[in-house]
Amino acid sequence: MQDFNYHRPADIAEATRILGEREDAKILAGGMTLIPTLKQRLAAPSDLIDLSRIPALTGMRRDGYELVIGAMTCHADVAASALVREMIPALASLAGQIGDPAVRHRGTIGGSVANSDPAADYPAGVLGLDATVETDRRRIAADDYFTGLFETALEPGEIITAIRFKVPAGAAYQKFRHPASGYAVVGVMVARFGKDVRVAITGAGPNAFRATAMEAALSVSFSPGALAGIALDPSELLTDMHASAEYRAHVASVLAGRAVASIA
Ligand SMILES: Cc1cc2nc3c(=O)[nH]c(=O)nc-3n(C[C@H](O)[C@H](O)[C@H](O)COP(=O)(O)OP(=O)(O)OC[C@H]3O[C@@H](n4cnc5c(N)ncnc54)[C@H](O)[C@@H]3O)c2cc1C
Repeated sequence: MQDFNYHRPADIAEATRILGEREDAKILAGGMTLIPTLKQRLAAPSDLIDLSRIPALTGMRRDGYELVIGAMTCHADVAASALVREMIPALASLAGQIGDPAVRHRGTIGGSVANSDPAADYPAGVLGLDATVETDRRRIAADDYFTGLFETALEPGEIITAIRFKVPAGAAYQKFRHPASGYAVVGVMVARFGKDVRVAITGAGPNAFRATAMEAALSVSFSPGALAGIALDPSELLTDMHASAEYRAHVASVLAGRAVASIA
């Protein structure tokens, strides 16, 4: 492990101030991704800003018709939350399928969304549920947030404070998990908002994206049969040691159909 200065601010203002003062500071959340990255010397920040002692960043609350989850809320708490299970059960289910118990008790929703791993589960949830990413500076719509492989609309030093979810009429998350890591080889979130349907895919491309042809078909007829003949274009998908692009396209169609069936 290399040398760095360690900070544990008591509130968001202090975290923002330290991030602004330090040349090459990094935010530390659950550390499930960042600490291995440091150990492998793929990053060498001058300072780590640990958000774990900022009470305002943890917990879940209802705000009118929306569900707000603090950035430092760990996956296990989202999965077990009575509020999340009542408002968006598909989101609790998604959180419960992440990694293993150790990862779920350390990893946070803010860290996952900030990291934007192509195989992470939350990006499909955030995009499919038309959520808003709240930061110490602004609110970013999910459609504008995921911009590339491990890339997002976040600016340097910008802190995610919460994720704000709209409550759908129905939603389901289906995942084909990698047997070792638990990451999504493909994951599909389908959500209904009145007649509008959103379908978000993770694991298949460089970042989470919407399957617009599936959305259009499901908006006309919300049934698994409406997806017949509609598939993702493999030329836009990832091929790696886990699966080919063609396989991922096929699995995405199967999972989307299962998600629709479980909602319908
Ligand atoms: C063995 C293993 C299996 C896993 N399996 C899965 C899986 O099946 N599905 C899945 O989705 N994920 C999986 N993960 C990832 C894990 O769930 C975490 O979501 C992920 O590591 C990031 O969250 P974290 O809180 O640990 O963030 P950290 O590792 O602390 O930080 C990650 C990055 O986000 C930045 N960051 C953190 N918080 C904020 C914030 N509030 N604002 C701005 N930037 C921030 C950090 O600076 C860093 O760059 C797995 C991880 C491991 C180690």
